[in-house]
Amino acid sequence: MTQDLVQRVAVLGAGSMGHGIAEVAALGGYDVMLRDIEDEFVQDGYENIEWSVEKLAEKGQIDESSEAVLERIGTTTDLEAAVSDADLVIEAVPEQIEIKEDTFSSVDEHAPEHAILASNTSSLSISAIASATDRPKQVVGLHFFNPPVKMDLVEVTYGEATSDETAKIAHEWAESVDKRPIYVRKDVHGFVVNTVLVPYMEEAAWMLSNDETTVQEADATMVYERGYPMGPFELNDFGGIDIAYHYRDSSDDPIPPVIERKVENENLGKKTGSGFYEYEESEGVDYTPEDIAEFDTLRTEAVMINKAAWLIGNDVATPEAIDIGLRLGGNFPEGMCRRGDRIGLDAVLEKLEELHAEYGADRYEPAEYLVELVEDGFTGEDAGKGFYDYRVDPPYHYLDWELTDEGVLDVTIDRREKLNSMSEDVFMEIDRLLTDIDVDDVSCVVFEGAGEKAFSSGADITGFTAGEPTDIMDPDEVFQTVYEFERPTVAKIDGYCLGAGIELALACDIRVATTDSTLGTPETNLGLIPGGGATQRLVRLVGENRAKEMVFRGLQFDAERAEEWGILNHAVPKDEFQELVDDIVSDLVSGPPVALKAAKQVINDGQEASLEAALAMEKQSFALLTTTDDMYEGVTAFRRNRAPEFTGE
Ligand code: NAD
Repeated sequence: MTQDLVQRVAVLGAGSMGHGIAEVAALGGYDVMLRDIEDEFVQDGYENIEWSVEKLAEKGQIDESSEAVLERIGTTTDLEAAVSDADLVIEAVPEQIEIKEDTFSSVDEHAPEHAILASNTSSLSISAIASATDRPKQVVGLHFFNPPVKMDLVEVTYGEATSDETAKIAHEWAESVDKRPIYVRKDVHGFVVNTVLVPYMEEAAWMLSNDETTVQEADATMVYERGYPMGPFELNDFGGIDIAYHYRDSSDDPIPPVIERKVENENLGKKTGSGFYEYEESEGVDYTPEDIAEFDTLRTEAVMINKAAWLIGNDVATPEAIDIGLRLGGNFPEGMCRRGDRIGLDAVLEKLEELHAEYGADRYEPAEYLVELVEDGFTGEDAGKGFYDYRVDPPYHYLDWELTDEGVLDVTIDRREKLNSMSEDVFMEIDRLLTDIDVDDVSCVVFEGAGEKAFSSGADITGFTAGEPTDIMDPDEVFQTVYEFERPTVAKIDGYCLGAGIELALACDIRVATTDSTLGTPETNLGLIPGGGATQRLVRLVGENRAKEMVFRGLQFDAERAEEWGILNHAVPKDEFQELVDDIVSDLVSGPPVALKAAKQVINDGQEASLEAALAMEKQSFALLTTTDDMYEGVTAFRRNRAPEFTGE
């Protein structure tokens, strides 16, 4: 639908964000006009796009030539020429309300009546920007993350007047350019991601201001114990301490004294060579797992979870949208709603109440929605309901799955922000899906990874350093569930297939990969060994010598070598990949279910038995199959020279 409504896009501002957004739109097949105020700026932006599109083409990450993509992009300094036939205008000019208002008022004058006007602002009010136009219903926030080509998330933000139709078109458009949009249904400062993420940095800064932690202790504990990609101070330094400062300053909330001091002294983080860490005079970020201390992780997480509850209670966003936002926009190991449900919302509330009693600050005041959930006994996963309802049809956070009419169970691991690495939740969800699904409805299972880069890059090792060995989930059990599933399973591999990723693939019956894929068992490089069955399944598949070489050397190699070694059934170029998978699946779907099940069982179990016992198993299964309707159907069809139609009876 969006493809019909939106065909031409104008992007205003060819700076860091504008050129990236224009590139995303062109890659998505749209005609784009890129506009900046000076020819030099717009040319710089275009050259950046050229460079990036050529890189993507070189790496085989786009299906067409770089010229074909670039041909869709025009450049101009003339605002009227840029927008006069645009269906969607996306503004990415400097973050100053006067410039935004000027821009929107001129765009309103020159853009077609039906055009939707979107702003990429990070912190200004969409309603204020919209009021510079005579079409506030058609104004919406489209907040991309930096860099737009790589970051999947887009926040679609309503201003006060934005119509549902406008938001829907913007949302669908973002999907059509391969982004993952989330709705932000009210124009709140910071939208969803920054509302929850900024307190991550600030709470640690309050603790530092009160001498309750050190920089290294806070960062090491949040990273190595709680799995965050960067510590709060590291993140502040990385993004620029002034950015977080201005964000807070514009909302009139108090600012932690340590942040104020850094800004006063112009120690703004990495970009100035000095922030919470010293980048020029010493080695920069220098925390190690040994710095893990009694840092109050719950305090930091409770403040973020409280913000999430506030967003939900005020109908700004759903738990799903918040979690996708934090995962894709903040690279968090999981969303804060999911984490809150795992910690227990009663513990979160208690922590906030304690903090509120001690410090009296507004940010500790529990959100009404959080209080209500706890009062109703909905304290999280253990209680069956928290932010999410786990009672009937528990949510799948990381698996996108579909059972087709033909009985193909398509399972996509979607943790693309972490190259589909498998966290405990991913393991549990695979196990739950295969256990809960009615096997009779399934003819075969196909596993794949979301995004362009990975089947799965392995187990998520964040948090391993602090965990007790017994806390780390046993992936082998999950892979055993896959191995024993009573229907054929296919691993459809495109990209990285490492560690637990290859173990999942090894637990499948058939493995197919693109020649661009990389397979391997790199665990020894981390001082570990494969823990999900690879040591054993590899030996059975490729023999002792190759298995030992792979595991000992932590080898990673391309798909052609993996095929040669017998790890893959097929390695094929990308343009032949889907067809091959379709052929395999089609054979499995039309095959005799009972015979396939028996064949899988005999082949699997036979490997663990003596040849004599295995042959006896085969014989017994063979005999049983001779009594099935499927066998009669197979023989009849063969005689009559037609395709059999098996029923599984
Ligand atoms: P930038 O300074 O890199 O680019 C802004 C560009 O707009 C410049 O090239 C400037 O010449 C041009 N410009 C100025 N007035 C213009 C006008 N009237 N018409 C067209 N172009 C004009 O800034 P940026 O980082 O790309 O940020 C742009 C917007 O995106 C801001 O609203 C910012 O808050 C938002 N944003 C930035 C980031 C980020 O990380 N940089 C992330 C998300 C959103």
